[in-house]
Amino acid sequence: MAEDLMSKIVSLSKRRGFVFPASEIYGGIGSSWDYGPLGAELKRNVKDAWWRSMVYERDDIVGIDSAIIQHPKVWEASGHVENFTDPLVDCRKCKKRFRADHLTDWKICPEKGCGGELTEARRFNLMFKTFLGPVEDSAATAYLRPETAQGIFTNFVNVQQASRKKPPFGIAQIGKSFRNEITPGNFIFRTREFEQMEMEFFVPPADWQKWFDEWRKLRRQWYADLGVNPAKLRMRDHAKDELAHYSNGCTDVEYEFPFGWSELERIASRTDFDLKRHAQFSGKELQYFDEQTKEHYVPWVIEPAAGCDRAALAFLVDAYREETVEGETRVVLSLHPRLAPTKVAILPLVKKDGMPERAHAIEKMLRARFTTFYDESGAIGRRYRRMDEAGTPFCLTVDGQTKEDGTVTLRHRDSMTQERVAEGELAARLDAAIAGWKRPGT
Ligand code: ATP
Repeated sequence: MAEDLMSKIVSLSKRRGFVFPASEIYGGIGSSWDYGPLGAELKRNVKDAWWRSMVYERDDIVGIDSAIIQHPKVWEASGHVENFTDPLVDCRKCKKRFRADHLTDWKICPEKGCGGELTEARRFNLMFKTFLGPVEDSAATAYLRPETAQGIFTNFVNVQQASRKKPPFGIAQIGKSFRNEITPGNFIFRTREFEQMEMEFFVPPADWQKWFDEWRKLRRQWYADLGVNPAKLRMRDHAKDELAHYSNGCTDVEYEFPFGWSELERIASRTDFDLKRHAQFSGKELQYFDEQTKEHYVPWVIEPAAGCDRAALAFLVDAYREETVEGETRVVLSLHPRLAPTKVAILPLVKKDGMPERAHAIEKMLRARFTTFYDESGAIGRRYRRMDEAGTPFCLTVDGQTKEDGTVTLRHRDSMTQERVAEGELAARLDAAIAGWKRPGT
């Protein structure tokens, strides 16, 4: 059943243009995915919602966009060169590779019916190496960033001084990260190239617990506010022996995916580890000077680190439903309208009587404010179903009555209810419907 749901999501994603297998015409390349027209919109909307809640709706967070390739010393200071490893084991019989920390038995191959013996675990560094310039030697070695956070730490003083922020304040960033994962999989859940949405919140050391608790609360709520079923979200505190080398406290926001409860986002207290290490490795002061107390101090950091692709997958899985309507199966993606790739479809009932012209004019009018889609082909019921699968929350149908009284039918995706709205009131009605949207069944 669970596998079934994942394969339905994968196939709908391809059919409707959310996600395609990368390099498909060459047979694909394991674990790389390309976002199609609807997927690219969904991802943009996820990132916009995150940026809005982090940067625009608060006065204590600013955004940056740092480079993917940084000085190699960055990754020595951060501990990634030494510690960013996963324990890798091979099966001597079927030759498959596994992450030992994902196995319950470190000795026997977990593949069904194999029973092969596993090798000793080897530490495998997940950073992608590359070379800067034409000479491929160790002096030219650089890394593709495995997290966006370090570009924030190395800019701490630049940003603090330029934006004149005082702790508690945060720096947010969205961008690609790269990890040479041993076992990528579960569609876009774990890939080698992915986008992160990270925020480093710098606080006076004595206040770390307060802000850790605050960010744990806020980040779970963000998913619920965007329509995710709260019963499928849970917080998992890390045990002491699970904590990363820089961390004194860590909680995962987990979602119940079809393949089980898995990490969506991680909220970590990173102490003053990163700023201190960069100060030590660079020889530069990375401190804050408190004008009032006349003290220099190194702030502590609370970090909510989310994955854009994982969030997109959670939103897709959570929104997917099948219903029986008049003896037929209706597949609908009940995405929050803010996340929906297309907000409104404009459909002339028939391809004559001036309806297409009128529909085009309405589309043109709404386009400045909403993402729209015009469709005149096929029976109206089929067109509605296509929009349901694409997650489009509203359809507007231009029909015979439109010519008479200037109203169109507004159809709501989740309830399939219809109402008549005057053309001039459409934008305001759509705004209200988006703002008032509720997850079906709540
Ligand atoms: P995992 O334990 O699943 O490997 P992680 O704990 O190493 O992940 P973090 O370093 O905490 O991940 O990264 C923060 C977020 O970035 C994760 O919660 C996840 O949403 C996202 N992320 C990390 N690795 C990947 C990946 N390989 N593919 C997609 N998203 C990822």
